[in-house]
Amino acid sequence: MLNSLLVSNSFAQLPPEFYTRLQARGLNNPSLLHVNSDVAGLLGLSPEQTASEDFLRIMSGNAPLPGGVTLAAVYSGHQFGVWAGQLGDGRAHLLGAVAGHDASGNPCDWELQLKGAGLTPYSRMGDGRAVLRSSVREYLASAAMVGLGIPTTLALCITQSDDPVYRETTETAAIVTRVAPSFIRFGSFEHWYANRRPDLLRELLNYVVCRFFADEVKLAQNDAEVPAMVCGFLDSVIRRTALLMADWQCVGFCHGVMNTDNMSILGLTIDYGPYGFMDGFQANHICNHSDTEGRYAWNQQASIGLWNLYRLANCFISLGVTQDALVQCLDRYEPIFTEAFREKMIRKMGLVQWQDGDEELIDQWWQLLHAQKADFTLSFRYLSEVMHDDSRFLALFTDRPAAEQWLRQYKARIALMEGNGQERVDSMNAVNPLYVLRNYLAERAIWDAKLKNPSTIEKLLTVLRNPFVEQAGMEQFAALPPEWANEIAVSCSS
Ligand code: AMP
Ligand code: MG
Repeated sequence: MLNSLLVSNSFAQLPPEFYTRLQARGLNNPSLLHVNSDVAGLLGLSPEQTASEDFLRIMSGNAPLPGGVTLAAVYSGHQFGVWAGQLGDGRAHLLGAVAGHDASGNPCDWELQLKGAGLTPYSRMGDGRAVLRSSVREYLASAAMVGLGIPTTLALCITQSDDPVYRETTETAAIVTRVAPSFIRFGSFEHWYANRRPDLLRELLNYVVCRFFADEVKLAQNDAEVPAMVCGFLDSVIRRTALLMADWQCVGFCHGVMNTDNMSILGLTIDYGPYGFMDGFQANHICNHSDTEGRYAWNQQASIGLWNLYRLANCFISLGVTQDALVQCLDRYEPIFTEAFREKMIRKMGLVQWQDGDEELIDQWWQLLHAQKADFTLSFRYLSEVMHDDSRFLALFTDRPAAEQWLRQYKARIALMEGNGQERVDSMNAVNPLYVLRNYLAERAIWDAKLKNPSTIEKLLTVLRNPFVEQAGMEQFAALPPEWANEIAVSCSS
C-alpha cells in the first residue's frame, strides 16, 4: 500500500564512511498509538495508508520503507562542553526520504527516521531502544513547536509494544517516526574535522549546501572559492541558530541537552529529551536533572548556541578558511539574536515600538517574574487584558504590591499609545500562547499512553496546533500546574 510513495536516498549517496547500512530491529507485537495527521498530510499519506498493516510494519521497524535504504549515520560532538569523540545514530534508523510538500505547499523531500528501532554500530553502551515515556514527550513537543511556529523536526507517529526496556525502572518500548528535511548535526561536521578528513568534510558541506542552502549560498567551483562558500554557509547557519534561540527564549522553552550533536545544521529544534516549557519563571531554570552545573539553563541557551557555532566554525580551518574570517561570521550572531529577541519582546509586551525607558520596563518585568516565580506563559498571556481587567494577571503573583507597582508603570506606558486597544490585545495574543506543553500535561498523556489510550495525546495535539487561540472546553490545558508537577524529574534517561 505504501509502494506508491516516491522514495529517494540522497544521504545514502554520500560516501560509505558517512553511515552504516543495516536493518532496523522491530518491536514485538506492535500497535500504533497515534498518527499526526498534519505530518501525514505533508508526506502525502492518506488515512487509509496510515491505518494499513504495511504502515505499522514499517513504522515499528519490522519492514523497510519500499525503495528506501536503511542506515545509521555517524557523527561526533561536544557533550556538556567536553569533546566526546564519535557518537552517531545509536538508536535512530534513517529509512529514506519521501517526496511530499512543506507547509506552504512547495514540493520537498522528507527524511523518515525511526527512533528506538534497535542497536546500530554507534549504540555504544545503549540498547538501541526508546521508552514510551520519552517517545510521547518527543512526539508532543514536535507538534507543540509547529503550533508555536518554531522550526523543529516533526513526528509522524508512535508505535508501541510491551517489550521491556530497562532504565531506572522497567519500562516499555516505543518508536517515534521522526521527519525532517535532514537530521545532519553540527557534530556531523565536527566528526570529519576530528578525524582529519577534510575531503569528507568538503563532501558533507557540498551536500548540505546543494540540498538545503542553494538559494542562499553559491557552491564553490574550485578550491579558491571554498572560503566564500564556507562563510556564506556559516552566515546562514548562524542566522538560523540565533533566530531559533530567540524563539525558544520567548516561549520559555529549555532544550536541556544542547550538545553539539543535538544541534541541527538546518536550525531546527532536534532531539527532544529532558526539555521543558517553564511553568514558574526562573531565569536560571534547569530542566534536565542530569545538568548539575546548569550549563543548559534557560538564561544560558543563547550563549551556548554561539559556543556550539564556534565548534562548528572551527572545523572549516581544515578547508583553508582563516580564523579571522570565521570570527567575523561568528560576530554576527549576537546582534542577530539580540535584535530578534528585542523585536519579539516588544510584540509580546504590546509596546509596538521601542521608546526610552522600555529597556528598564522589560528588565523589571523579568525581575518581577523571577522574584515571584510567576507563570511564564500566563503572565504574558494575561498581560494583554490588564487595561480592561487586571485581576487574572495580578492573581499570578504572590507579592501583589510589587506586581501592582510594575503594572502602574506598564499601564502608563500603554496609555500613551495611539490606536484601538483591541488591536494591541489581538497582536499580543497572536504571539503569547495560551497553551504550551507543560511537563504535567505531557505526563498525563504518558499515563494514558501506557494504557494504550491515545485520547490525551489527541486532545493535546488539538490545542497545541493552535496555541494562540482560546478553545472552548479546553480550559484544563491552559491551567496552572498542579502541586504534583513539582515532583516531575526529567533527566537524560530516555
Ligand atoms: P542524546 O543525549 O540522546 O542526544 O544521545 C547521545 C548519543 O547517545 C547519541 O549518539 C545517541 O544515538 C546515543 N544514545 C542515546 N540513547 C541511546 C540508546 N538507548 N541506545 C543507543 N544509543 C543511544
Ligand atoms: Mg542526540
